[in-house]
Amino acid sequence: MVRTPPTCPQCPTRPMLWKDTEHMRSDAPDRWRWYCSGCERYWEPTATQKREYSYGTP
Ligand SMILES: [Zn+2]
Repeated sequence: MVRTPPTCPQCPTRPMLWKDTEHMRSDAPDRWRWYCSGCERYWEPTATQKREYSYGTP
């Protein structure tokens, strides 16, 4: 099942967020953040999102 990323809570156009895995390591798969290319902000994922999105790369 393919999960759709959340949309930016700040941008009026509601762009989808990107999963930024720059700081992710194999021993720390939950070290990632959401990135919005619209407002160029990083968003901390919720605990639920970390659990649901930490494994598997699209
Ligand atoms: Zn945004």
